[in-house]
Amino acid sequence: MDQSYRGGNRHDSSKKIRSVPVRLKAFQALERRLPEKHPKREHIERGRKNLLAGFAGERSLDYFLSCLRGETPYWIYHDLRLKADSRYFFQMDTVVLTPRFILILEVKNYAGTVHFDEFGQVTRLHNGHKTSFANPIDQVQRQQMQLEHFLHMHHFPPVPVFGLVVFSSPSTMLSAAGDTDKALNQQILKAEALPKRISQFNDHFTTPFLTPTQMTDLSSLLLNTHTPLTKQLLFTYGIPSSDLLTGIHCPKCERLAMERLHRSSYWRCPHCQHKEKEAYVDTFRDYALLISDRITNREARTFLHIPSERYTLRLLQAMHLKHTGSTRLRVYQLTRLLEGRR
Ligand SMILES: [Zn+2]
Repeated sequence: MDQSYRGGNRHDSSKKIRSVPVRLKAFQALERRLPEKHPKREHIERGRKNLLAGFAGERSLDYFLSCLRGETPYWIYHDLRLKADSRYFFQMDTVVLTPRFILILEVKNYAGTVHFDEFGQVTRLHNGHKTSFANPIDQVQRQQMQLEHFLHMHHFPPVPVFGLVVFSSPSTMLSAAGDTDKALNQQILKAEALPKRISQFNDHFTTPFLTPTQMTDLSSLLLNTHTPLTKQLLFTYGIPSSDLLTGIHCPKCERLAMERLHRSSYWRCPHCQHKEKEAYVDTFRDYALLISDRITNREARTFLHIPSERYTLRLLQAMHLKHTGSTRLRVYQLTRLLEGRR
């Protein structure tokens, strides 16, 4: 998830978390750890391409959002995934938070002609093929209710929440049947119309619902409760973790598995001969991306192919991870590795 702040200096240096790159990394990790002929390979490649396309669509909104007027402070969050209740999560592509209203933008980058009929069905015509889609208005209305509930649950004032469906590709043609037109216009728009629509919201909602402190509190709450969807990749594709290839992969050619040089702290790739001391860090990251953000010494030994408990302990300690539990049963928290740049 990515948070950015415009319209003031106070939070300009705010922390940025981008979960899309993390999700991309998870795809890359999965692809290098699946056997060459794994039946799900093609499916996963398609998933990665869709993710990249969606990411490009969301990014293209940034330009239009940057046209927003400066006098109202606002924050923008991308890819926010929050807990609706004890069991369910809801995800929003882009959220614009202001003291006076909140906008949820559901971003679609469909090519071709998108048609909304009077029954609420949505079809797309592209290169002579007709496909139907779940109605994005229903989707964004659901998110709207979930976000309102989330605000209520966390005792925030009832700031008005609106959902818009934004088509980010300039080449998309939108059409609607008869009477549906007008109603749709309220909620569906092309990205280039976004600055105008937001300024209409600005003119319409003049009363602030959130104080600057509540804005900051809500922002921290959103950032802290955000739960990126990474570990579910195996679940989504129905791949048991036992299908994954283990061992330390080569940071250079990505192949498995590196070998530890005798009496040395170096690892060497048997394929490209690349040598590296900290090659194991990337493998712990793969574990965090695909399996769990917690690991024990025993699990690390299996995944990294290291027979020695002592040596594994040294590697775990070298990464300065947070941990809980006493020596033998100690559980190491790998989350920090997902925030790194590598
Ligand atoms: Zn290599």
